[in-house]
This record gives sequence, structure tokens and C-alpha cells, in this order.
Amino acid sequence: MANFYTDNEDIKFHLNNPKMKPIVDLKERNYKIFETENYGNDNIDPCDIKPYNFEDAIDNYSEVLTIVGEICGDIIAPNAEGVDEEGPRLENNRVHYASGTVENMKALKQARLTGMTLPRRYGGLNFPATAYNMAVEMVSRGDASLMNLFGLQDIGETVYEFADDETKKNFLHRFSSGESTGAMILTEPDAGSDLQAVNLKAHFDEKANTWKLNGVKRFITNGNAELSLVLARSEDGTKDGRGLSMFLYDRDDTVQIRRIENKMGIHGSPTCEMVFKDSPCILVGKRKFGLIKYVMALMNGARLGIGSQSIGISEAAYREALKYAKERVQFGKTIDQFPGVYEMLTDMKVKIAAGRSLLYETSRFVDMYKVYEDIEAERKLSNEEKQDMKKYKRRADFYTPLLKGLTSEYCNSIAYDAIQIHGGTGFMKDFPVERLYRDARITTIYEGTTQLQVVAAIRGVTSGLFTEMMEEYQNEKISPELEYLNKHLKEMKNEYVEAMRIAEAPEDNEFLDFHARRLVEMAGNIIMGHLLVLDADRDIKYKPMAELFIKKGQPENTEKFNKIKTIDRDDLGLYKTLSI
Ligand SMILES: Cc1cc2nc3c(=O)[nH]c(=O)nc-3n(C[C@H](O)[C@H](O)[C@H](O)COP(=O)(O)OP(=O)(O)OC[C@H]3O[C@@H](n4cnc5c(N)ncnc54)[C@H](O)[C@@H]3O)c2cc1C
Repeated sequence: MANFYTDNEDIKFHLNNPKMKPIVDLKERNYKIFETENYGNDNIDPCDIKPYNFEDAIDNYSEVLTIVGEICGDIIAPNAEGVDEEGPRLENNRVHYASGTVENMKALKQARLTGMTLPRRYGGLNFPATAYNMAVEMVSRGDASLMNLFGLQDIGETVYEFADDETKKNFLHRFSSGESTGAMILTEPDAGSDLQAVNLKAHFDEKANTWKLNGVKRFITNGNAELSLVLARSEDGTKDGRGLSMFLYDRDDTVQIRRIENKMGIHGSPTCEMVFKDSPCILVGKRKFGLIKYVMALMNGARLGIGSQSIGISEAAYREALKYAKERVQFGKTIDQFPGVYEMLTDMKVKIAAGRSLLYETSRFVDMYKVYEDIEAERKLSNEEKQDMKKYKRRADFYTPLLKGLTSEYCNSIAYDAIQIHGGTGFMKDFPVERLYRDARITTIYEGTTQLQVVAAIRGVTSGLFTEMMEEYQNEKISPELEYLNKHLKEMKNEYVEAMRIAEAPEDNEFLDFHARRLVEMAGNIIMGHLLVLDADRDIKYKPMAELFIKKGQPENTEKFNKIKTIDRDDLGLYKTLSI
């Protein structure tokens, strides 16, 4: 009997962070909420599963996460190899999942885990994003490809946030009951990173009194889903993002799935090319807000999901590497005794701890602003609440791409080292690390490549938000024995400010873009350093982790700083010439 929740104290440590209190208090409306409506499962009275105080709510999350952990350990992980080998297949325009995937989905559905973040009145569990992403992390540790189906709960959440009441009443229970899976249909052959170029057409058919979709989409995870959100051009003659709207498509026979891609990894998740032919759909929210508002919200949720997926894959790779290193004997010793191996293992562990702290800090920011948005739909917010909502929204917008960019890169380097620790065996299909390495590769690409996360995160870095966060972290009261770590982080921050000054000095966007990744990574090292110090303050067992992360991060930042100092504006010409 394996349980991915109870065998991982770090997840519980983050669930028990006192910063969860304001989130849960608001989410449960101070435990005074009385749900009078029920558009979800008729057999369940939403009041029956409502917590009566903060501790009760945390206990509830913990109980649910124990069930998730058990399903992951006992069903999902043992199925992963078979799923990877079998993969989905396309027959008569229908996608059939691998048999292991079918069993996994059935277990998740039976445990009512398919609408975790939706309000109870729609049949959901009213989970905060923070606790939900703990489930996503565990599912990804079991089978990264299944996360792509399980994690599509964001579709239901986006419908909840932006659709009208009738659409919510008609469709949300289908997500929460597990009757329908979701898909996020954005990418086209000529619109990948640049979604402003989306060209799939939406027109209103007066006769049929409905919107209809026409065109091609590609690389769509779970394109066979029953309910999908589609980004389409609703405004004739427009060419940019302002002409795009979002639509809810309820699967019928008008869409042809042309093919399932033959991929390097995440074999269990079908990636589809699709053709829409006069496919009826429902407008979600307002016209023209498709990309600029709704897709941005949808993608931010999905990026948080990829952050969780990256941590889950990293955890699996680290555990496999550790197990192997403890058993494999060379030169008369187990290989974990060699500095060249234990350094890799420790670096993996520290990166996971840092990435996980960033994941749950980001999730808390998301929770805070979203819960205020939800309350705003019920009543007027006070000025103070409005300020809080804005503050957390800005933080979430900065931290989400930072998280996605950094943890997905960590995930790849951890999977790489896990193979290295296995030596030749790691290159064979006999051990799970080979699959984990292939699965890890996509995390830096979908939901926006690392380069695009840098483009999004650099705004937070240059806007003064980073400095604001530094002040907040530095002002947190911590135990005197950790103060010296904050001193190092202060030095790193000062160096960072100087690097920023140099990168911004020429007042030339291309020069800033050239150094942007270095700057974002420097900022990430400082932020994660602070988060680990705060973790160590709550539990001293995290102190060595904080210490090593900062000891390694400081020279890494100095190296990046030196590069920013050395490669000046004129060198960009050299880079351009040599790149072709
Ligand atoms: C397995 C898989 C599943 C997917 N699932 C979905 C899904 O469910 N729904 C969906 O809508 N899409 C999905 N996608 C699409 C995915 O989001 C895109 O592939 C991704 O956003 C990159 O777009 P692209 O492939 O067109 O690459 P391109 O945009 O062509 O990028 C190519 C390279 O150019 C770089 N680049 C592009 N623009 C810039 C810039 N401004 N600055 C710096 N570098 C830049 C990129 O970083 C990259 O290195 C999926 C893709 C895959 C492979």
C-alpha cells in the first residue's frame, strides 16, 4: 500500500502553513455560508460537507489528499508504465484512452475528485488552488500524462468565473460529476506562442440562433473532450487579440479529429489535431475578451498546474535516483557514497524544496485574489479588500510565469541527473527514469515556453514588484539563527538591483530582452532563498536546505551579473551574426 501524501511530509508542511488561514476563512465565508442551491450532485447536500472552522477545513483537505495519495500510490503509479506503452488510439473519430488511463480516471471519478475547486453548489469540493495543486503534484508523480487530464479542471473553473448563470447551471455539474472531461483549444498551426494570430472563425448563425466554429486547431490535449473552451476570431477583419472571443463547445459530430500526435513523452495524454465544421457553441463572457481576459486567466491556472506537474515529476525522478543509488554497488561501495553522486542527489532535493515553496506561495497569491473576485460577485468589497485583491493579483501575475519557467527547467535537469545516476541502466526502458526524462521534456514547452514565461515575468521584475516583495520578506520576523541567511539574500538583492540598472541603462528593449532570462533567474534564486528561510523558521529541519540553496544561488547570481556587465549592447550584433 503506497500513499503519495502520507509518504511526503513536505506537502503536509505546506498545507499547514499559517498563511492558509485568511484564504480558508474567506473561501468558507467565515464558516457562515449556507448553501441553499444545488446544481451539482442531487445525492449530496452541500451543507453536509461544509467545514465549521479553519482546523476542520484543513482536516478535510488532508483527508481528501490522503485519498488522492492512495489512488496515486496504489493505482496511478503502477499503471504508468502500461499507459506509456499502450497510449491512446483514434478509431472512428473517437479517442480511446489506454486501459490504465481508463482505470485511473474511474478511480478519480469515484472518489469525487473531478471538480475539486468548484463551489459545492455545483457539486465541487470548494478546494483552494493551493490544496488542489497538491493533488496535481501527486497525480503527476504517479503519471505525468494523467495530470494532463486530471489538471483540466481549470476548464470548469474558467466557465465558473466567466460564463453566465445559465451556462454554469447547465454545464458545471458535468465537470464535477466526472461525466465530462475538458480541453483547452487555443493553438493553431500559425498561432503557437503568438495566440493573437488565432484564425479559427466564429460566426453567429442567425437562422440556427447559435455561434458556429470553422477552422483547424492543433496540439490539443484531450481534444476528444466532451466540453471544451475554444479561442476563436469572432470579429471579421481584425488581426490581433482584440478580435478574439471564447466559446464553450459541447462535443457533437461536427468536429473531426484528424490525428493523435506521435509524441516523445506523456504518452497517456492524447494530443489532437482537430477540424471544426460549423460546430455549434456558446459564447463565454463578453465578445472580444477571449484572449485578453479569459485565456489569460485560463492559462495562468494551467501554468500553475505545470508548476505542480514539474514538481511531481521531479519528486518521482529524485526518489528513483535515490533508491537506485542506495542499492547500486561500484568499487565496493553503494554509489550514493561518492561525492559525484551525492552532490547530484542533494542538488535535486534542494531544488525540489525550493520549487515546491515557490509553487505553494504562488498558489496562495492566486487563492487570495480569486476568493476576493468570487466574493465581489456576491457583495461590494470594502476599499481595503479591493486593495488586497489588486495586490495579490499583481503578485500572482508575476509569480505564475516565474514558477512555471523555473520549476519546469528544474524538472528537466533533475530528470537528466536521475538518468545519470542510473548510468547505462537509466538509458534503458527497464527503469521508470527513462519515461520520466521523456515526460519532463514537455514542461518547458507547453502552456508557453520558458522564453515566453521570461517575457511575462520580466514585467514583475522591472515594475518594482520584486523590490516590494524583497522588503516584505526581509521584514518577516525570523529566528536570530537564520539572520545570516537573510544577509546573504540582501547582498544578492543589491547585486540584482545593479544588474537591472545595467540592463535598463541603454533604454533599449532588445538589450533588456537579451538579458531577461538571467535577470528572472537571479530574481527566482533570491525569492526561493527567502521562501526556504521562512520554511526553516517554521521547521528547523529545512535550514540545511535554505543554506545550501543560498550558498549555491549566490555565486550563480554573480556569474549572471558578470555576464550582464560583460556582454554589452554592441555584442548583440555578434550574437545575431553568429546565430545564422
Ligand atoms: C504535447 C503538447 C500538448 C499541448 N497541449 C495544448 C493544449 O491542450 N491546448 C493548446 O491550445 N495548445 C497546446 N499545446 C501547444 C503549446 O502550448 C505550444 O506548442 C507552445 O505554446 C509553443 O508554441 P509552438 O509550438 O507554436 O512554438 P513557437 O511559438 O513556434 O516557438 C518556437 C520557439 O520560438 C521561441 N519564441 C517564440 N516567440 C518568442 C518570443 N516572443 N520571445 C522569445 N522566444 C520566442 C519559443 O520559445 C520556441 O523556442 C500543446 C503542445 C504540445 C507539444
